[in-house]
Amino acid sequence: MNLDALSKGFKAIFDCEPTGIASSPGRVNLIGEFTDYNDGYVLPCALEFTTQVAFAQRGDDLIVVHSFQYPNEQDSFNLADEITQGDSQWGNYIRAVAFVLKRSGKKLKGMNLLIESNVPQGAGLSSSAALEVAVGGAFNHVSDLGLSKQGLALFGQQAENDFMDCQCGIMDQLISAKGQKNNALLIDCESLETKSVSIPEDLNLVIINSNYPRKLVDSEYNQRRIDCEQAAKKLGIKTLRHGTIEMLNVAKPDLTSNEYKRAHHVISENSRVIKATEALKNNDMASLCALMAASHYSLKHDFEVTVPATDGLVEICKGALQSRGAVRMTGGGFGGAIVCLCRDDDIKLIKQAVEDNYTQNFNLEASIFVCKAADGFLIME
Ligand code: ADP
Ligand code: MG
Repeated sequence: MNLDALSKGFKAIFDCEPTGIASSPGRVNLIGEFTDYNDGYVLPCALEFTTQVAFAQRGDDLIVVHSFQYPNEQDSFNLADEITQGDSQWGNYIRAVAFVLKRSGKKLKGMNLLIESNVPQGAGLSSSAALEVAVGGAFNHVSDLGLSKQGLALFGQQAENDFMDCQCGIMDQLISAKGQKNNALLIDCESLETKSVSIPEDLNLVIINSNYPRKLVDSEYNQRRIDCEQAAKKLGIKTLRHGTIEMLNVAKPDLTSNEYKRAHHVISENSRVIKATEALKNNDMASLCALMAASHYSLKHDFEVTVPATDGLVEICKGALQSRGAVRMTGGGFGGAIVCLCRDDDIKLIKQAVEDNYTQNFNLEASIFVCKAADGFLIME
């Protein structure tokens, strides 16, 4: 939707012009999975899909929010009252952001908000982080909070952790806030330091959502976190970021089999991220291919978060790409999406291979998104 249409929609609902639009994108992670909450490295990029939040200050303490994606539902709450869960599932994300900002002592002003997004929801592109960062950006602007992009990301993560009860790491919000066009971002999740890594111009990001129905994800996800924390404790380190394979092997007798495998994934994945950063810089497809294949193998056998549908998609794409493209599962696992890095000519080969093999073998329809890396959060006035 163009900005004019969003402004018109805002006027039709609120009978006033928006004073600005906060925009924040979805993301894909190239490599570094489940490393963020272990203080490790990740290499995501922001996408051209964005969530836009048109805003205007109100004269009272209410937040009133509409979304073009949920036309029959609105949410409103009073900033002066205790902020609790409401009846609107999506409205809770706005409450969540207000809740964590208010909890930190920020003085917030009432606003009208209208959300519009082309980030597919629940497709592994992190529409929730895009929403949290954009909404945080609207609060930041209207209430003059002086938050940096990193600050917006941290509050977005807190919103998801402490109000939405999803124990995600910092990656999704930080890349949504700080992404840069044509670049991936190497994030050190311990220091939150970021370095942009230029993506060779001839490489495309092809993201394929398996559309596998996710089940029991939260408990599995949280169990992985606990296994990682236990493993770090037994290795005598703060987080697995500080572990090495040698340390892991020394401590092996003390670890449960799952703790060992989870830690093996995280420690090996961290070193793959650093190597992949170099390979990307040098447009070294052979190395990218090997590193992403090793990441997928580790996610399948050590972290055990793939499903036959995502393993199958990776195999299908590998068959089509051979050594010309790199592929692995991406995101939170237990379904979700895979990502391929490949050149223009190979896009149609991948699409054909998925069309010919996926539905037939897995009884699911895949969604394919061909993207380039885009800019992160911005405010338009
Ligand atoms: P994802 O992988 O896309 O982040 P989540 O389940 O974490 O999936 O987040 C999706 C949720 O985010 C939706 O169910 C909805 O509550 C909220 N959301 C995302 N985009 C929008 C939007 N445009 N309008 C309102 N809510 C949205
Ligand atoms: Mg999400």
